[in-house]
Amino acid sequence: MNDNEKTEIFVTGGAGYVGSHSILELLKNGYSVVAVDNFSNSKPGKDQTMPESLKRVQCLAGKELTFYEVDLLNKDSLKQIFQKHTFSCVVHFAALKAVGESCRVPLDYYRNNVGGSVNLLEVMQEFNVKRIVFSSSATVYGVPLYLPIDETHPVGSTCTNPYGRTKYFIEEILKDVSKSEKGWSVILLRYFNPVGAHESGIIGEDPHGVPNNLMPYISQVAVGRLKELMVFGNDYDTVDGTGVRDFIHVMDLAEGHVSAVKEILTAEFKGCTAYNLGTGKGYSVLEVIKAFEDACSVKIPYIIVDRRDGDVDSIYADVSLAEKCLGWKSKRSLKQMCEDTWRWQSKNPIGFRT
Ligand code: UDP
Repeated sequence: MNDNEKTEIFVTGGAGYVGSHSILELLKNGYSVVAVDNFSNSKPGKDQTMPESLKRVQCLAGKELTFYEVDLLNKDSLKQIFQKHTFSCVVHFAALKAVGESCRVPLDYYRNNVGGSVNLLEVMQEFNVKRIVFSSSATVYGVPLYLPIDETHPVGSTCTNPYGRTKYFIEEILKDVSKSEKGWSVILLRYFNPVGAHESGIIGEDPHGVPNNLMPYISQVAVGRLKELMVFGNDYDTVDGTGVRDFIHVMDLAEGHVSAVKEILTAEFKGCTAYNLGTGKGYSVLEVIKAFEDACSVKIPYIIVDRRDGDVDSIYADVSLAEKCLGWKSKRSLKQMCEDTWRWQSKNPIGFRT
């Protein structure tokens, strides 16, 4: 047994897209993982116990993890888990994440994302577990004042939707908690646009209903589940008029989480620090379509439609802080993001229900 195996990591929202890929990397790095999920955005496996995504993670890792079906709003269930285990650190993914839905039912988002996080922090405090890596988002930056965007860019004031504001509020809560008493260590990971899948094609992104995001939409068009892609606007101030984003391979993101966990477990790390996780390079919607067609030899029919509310022209990250402090840097290209997305989608046309 190496040292990491004695280190138990508690992962919330472990069955989801970024959660499942990150757990795989944590297991491969020797950590023990206890994961919870409420199945709000994942599918149970055949025996109805562990989510299908995590069953596959166990196969890929050649190692088991512990899973509990728990909703963070149920504080008593959370406490029972903390009674059974001794956690070194928490990685907190669990959240509702559909931007459009968050505008229709904001209170569900505030109750679930913010309320769930407060419950988690209270239980952590009670059990003296004071290290947390939080799954935040570049959406906290709102409309960029400059590019590339670094971690000192203002946050919150121009968030364009309730989902983004829940991430911002939770960041603020974590900052307050880390200041309130000694011993708290908080890392905020601000993701840019996670895409791709594990290179095996065995796990990947499996959104409920019609995808909101670009890459899963493209891959569902490619596999024949959707007829054509709608490109939201071609009159932005960008290279070809379509929106520019910093797409990052989900396995790079997963490795970023392992680097953050390693950092937070050091005695030197204290307080609260935010890190961008992106590639530092922006690609337009049309460039992504082209890259997908080239990498996968499939045609993606698309039409140009109106802009989507709340979208910005361009956003991409300054990633130098994560490289300097976490020793982490993304490695995978847009081509690889497209190939791996396609491997997952073509092997699993209807996702984890296959
Ligand atoms: N987009 C698009 N059609 C879609 C989904 C997204 O044209 O069906 C565009 C969107 O306007 C933005 C980019 O793709 O410019 C990335 O959008 P996504 O929803 O994937 O991520 P976001 O940056 O909004 O978090």
